[in-house]
Amino acid sequence: MGFSSKVPWLKGVIGWPGWAECVALIPAMMLGWVWFGPLGTVVIIGAVVPVLLVATRRIRKSSGSSAQGRASAIASRDTIVETLNANSRIYDATGRGSACLIMCLDEPDRIAGEFGQGARDRAMQEIGTRLRGALRERDVLARLDATRFAVALEPMQRLDLEAAIQIAGRLKSAVEEPVSIDATTAYFSVSVGFCLSSRAPEPTGQSVLNSAETALAEARRNGPSAIRAYTRDMGQAADDREALRNEVETALERGDILAFFQPQLSTDTGEIAGFEALVRWQHPVRGLLNPAEFLPAVLACGLGRRLSEAMLHQALTALRNWDRAGFVVPSVGINFSREELSDPNLVATIKWELDRFELAPGRLNIEILESVIATSDEDIVVRNIAELSKLGCGIDLDDFGTGHASISSIRRFAVDRLKIDRSYVTRVDSDQSQQQLVGAILSMAERLGLTTLAEGIETIGEHAHLAQLGCAFVQGFAISRPLPFSATIEWMHKHRTKLTASAGLSQKRTG
Ligand code: C2E
Ligand code: MG
Ligand code: MG
Repeated sequence: MGFSSKVPWLKGVIGWPGWAECVALIPAMMLGWVWFGPLGTVVIIGAVVPVLLVATRRIRKSSGSSAQGRASAIASRDTIVETLNANSRIYDATGRGSACLIMCLDEPDRIAGEFGQGARDRAMQEIGTRLRGALRERDVLARLDATRFAVALEPMQRLDLEAAIQIAGRLKSAVEEPVSIDATTAYFSVSVGFCLSSRAPEPTGQSVLNSAETALAEARRNGPSAIRAYTRDMGQAADDREALRNEVETALERGDILAFFQPQLSTDTGEIAGFEALVRWQHPVRGLLNPAEFLPAVLACGLGRRLSEAMLHQALTALRNWDRAGFVVPSVGINFSREELSDPNLVATIKWELDRFELAPGRLNIEILESVIATSDEDIVVRNIAELSKLGCGIDLDDFGTGHASISSIRRFAVDRLKIDRSYVTRVDSDQSQQQLVGAILSMAERLGLTTLAEGIETIGEHAHLAQLGCAFVQGFAISRPLPFSATIEWMHKHRTKLTASAGLSQKRTG
């Protein structure tokens, strides 16, 4: 509580002509008394004091209106931090709470891709104008970067979680109204993260802003168009992700993220048809890790693109080295997650790498999970896959039979080969219902002009039976486990020897 509100009678004195100004006038009045005598002094005070008061009022008024101007313009990140600092002090002194909200345009690349580079900036300007219009005059709005705005709400009584969610929802709806760009109507969405000043880990503006950023990252992970409030757990989860992110980045730099290779055979000839590249992390403490142990976390902390670049590079290096060593390896398959397939630079990166290694696009198979194609509509994923297919890369539909892809989506994604999931392959040699299912998949594939590969072959019996049913390719532990690159050479030598021996045997039999 301020001094003036504790002593009400003083409020008028301090608030009206200005207490400091009155004190400053005392020496001048005393000097006038000595110089002009009592009467002259009264005349001068009567003339000068009103002039001074009017001037002081004018100055106050104009500085007040410029402060209002500041609040209604679009401010900088520093202003937001300062305002949130001041708001935290107000909260401590009066209990009136504030909050910081950050809004981020979802899919800025889609807007730039569909409407051109300038469209995203125009959309952001429009969002700024709408936000300003939907906020109160004393709320501070700042542009943080190309895709994000931050708001510091003016301190108010009873700003609890529910009230803040309502404000966030109101601002989001105002912003998500369609925008007209070059005579076309564009629809876009935003995600919102916010932190109540009272919930930030520290009572500073920077801490409130950082916490709102953490909440925004969580909203974006659950988005598009999501709202999330900062909670302490979120802070811990973000710290863990950050730690993991740093660890994975170091692993990528040190070459601890490795491609292992699992061979795929033709059932017709027994020859090697290709290898699938499968990621492994050679962790310095935990040993060799499988993708299930780290892949979801790597994708969640936004390193999917770095991972797929590393896998692509290692897979193409392997192909070149097999070629140089005189082995015939027609292709290598790489798995791409939805996150990686959403990268607008994916096709350019793959094309550039293939050119650099002087390898034909047909030597690369793109493996896409059936669940991805079953749920991706006309978006960047479809465009990327269509372009990769046009480039000449093979498109493998991974884990087929587990993801409810429609026949039309198989067509739309230009799929070349179905990789029949292991769950259909297990005990196919002894279980009649498995045989019926695999038989149905194989005849559907044939009608659609697709080739087939059976995954997860664990026994010679399964291998033989799938060959008999007409499945073109096989892959699984019965043939080989995924191997580090160095071990693939030895495996191929042995496989060649085995093939030659069995060819000799069958020649002897027929001869
Ligand atoms: P996937 O693409 O279906 O790969 C086949 C998985 O089955 C591999 O597991 C492989 O080791 C395993 N497998 C192969 N033959 C057999 C078998 O006979 N029996 C059994 N029980 N399993 C067999 P892995 O390497 O643990 O990979 C699991 C999944 O992780 C992959 O499934 C793929 O979806 C994903 N993945 C692997 N590497 C990458 C990568 O570089 N990028 C992305 N985005 N995903 C990857
Ligand atoms: Mg795969
Ligand atoms: Mg699979």
